[in-house]
Amino acid sequence: MQVQTTATQYDVVVVGGGLVGASFALNLSQQINDSAYSILVVEAVDSTNFDQQPSFDSRSTALSFGSRQIFETMKLWSAITPLAEPIIEIQVSDRGHFGRTTLSSAEQGVEALGYVIENRELGDVLGRAMQTSSGVSLLAAATITQIKPCRSGMELTVAREEQLTKLSAKLVVLADGGRSSICEGLGIDQTKTDYGQHAIITNVAFERPHSGVAFERFTESGPLAVLPLSDFQKSNRGSLVWTVSESSREELLSCHEETFRSMLTQYFGERLGRIMQVGKRAAYPLSLTLAKEQVRPGLVLLGNVAHTLHPVAGQGLNLALRDSAALVRQLVIAKEQQVDPGEVKSLQAYLESQNQDQFESVLFTDQTVKLFSNNQWGQSAIRKLGLLGLELMPSIRSRFARSAMGLKP
Ligand SMILES: Cc1cc2nc3c(=O)[nH]c(=O)nc-3n(C[C@H](O)[C@H](O)[C@H](O)COP(=O)(O)OP(=O)(O)OC[C@H]3O[C@@H](n4cnc5c(N)ncnc54)[C@H](O)[C@@H]3O)c2cc1C
Repeated sequence: MQVQTTATQYDVVVVGGGLVGASFALNLSQQINDSAYSILVVEAVDSTNFDQQPSFDSRSTALSFGSRQIFETMKLWSAITPLAEPIIEIQVSDRGHFGRTTLSSAEQGVEALGYVIENRELGDVLGRAMQTSSGVSLLAAATITQIKPCRSGMELTVAREEQLTKLSAKLVVLADGGRSSICEGLGIDQTKTDYGQHAIITNVAFERPHSGVAFERFTESGPLAVLPLSDFQKSNRGSLVWTVSESSREELLSCHEETFRSMLTQYFGERLGRIMQVGKRAAYPLSLTLAKEQVRPGLVLLGNVAHTLHPVAGQGLNLALRDSAALVRQLVIAKEQQVDPGEVKSLQAYLESQNQDQFESVLFTDQTVKLFSNNQWGQSAIRKLGLLGLELMPSIRSRFARSAMGLKP
């Protein structure tokens, strides 16, 4: 997909057409009545080149019930739902301890607690939607090398096929991921807490079907999740996210499949029977990275560039989708009031509306990592009590489940 574009002035330019940038651009164009704003997405990787595209890699994402509602308003859910596996139940357990709890969709009165989709599949849906959208233009493969304020908003330098050109935008939405050189160039600092952990991800085929159950298991090395995936060639697939220390990372990536299977069985047990097959393994370093500024006149940060979270609670993309939806709502208001989309007061109003959600999601994720990655007696006792509390008190369980579903408790 390579949409050529000759215009040089836009209302909104989105830097990065990953899961967040693409979702935001499509949502804005839909809510603002297609051509009311000229919207351009600039993406560094040609999205037909999936192996190179960091956002659409071999990971899977647990979309919350709240994210489903966002995709429904974008009229994309009907394309996503055949590719997504519903989570009917979440089993949370602690390796070597008795505490255990189960959250179920029936108890919460919803069809599913969440939906698991492979990033590549979700990327494909978003890519196709951009291709057919009359309100969004896409420039790929092209890289933004610099952004600086100018009289009409922001001036962007685009590198494409060894040529540099200039664009201008009233609003730049920076969605270029966690390792943003643009942010650095703009002098926007980030605070980074390195967890000293890596997520090993791979798809696993089990002997028995998952029946819509997602497993979250806390182990000495860190949390291990197996999310239900849709069947592929009649295999019972699960998506594994295994948090391990730096020292275990190399061993788990390079060991023979047989060794990997037996190590995984040791930690996950035989909940889904024997492990039949393991796919390609990859590792992601894990940190909590927060931008110190998220809005400036003519600029807003979205997604991993604004906040990169540990995947333990599956909050990263779900939070970014809620941020995107809130920003779209604010831009619709600005348009109705004939306010420029880059107007800083309007961007600040967006940020204020999401402050609490961001704060709670970051805190919930960070505390979960710290509590469940530590095997000292005090911490594991609190953890055991926490899981028992969740099991015994339906009202607390319901609050927990609603947070996990991306809904307000
Ligand atoms: C192991 C793991 C599991 C996860 N599981 C979940 C989950 O279950 N649920 C959940 O909600 N979240 C989950 N997350 C988090 C989620 O993956 C991220 O929140 C999400 O991918 C962030 O997307 P993004 O678009 O902000 O950034 P990215 O995915 O990094 O995309 C950035 C895009 O910008 C492009 N780009 C970069 N620089 C430029 C430039 N200068 N010019 C043009 N384009 C540029 C890149 O090519 C890329 O396409 C998980 C994360 C990990 C690591």
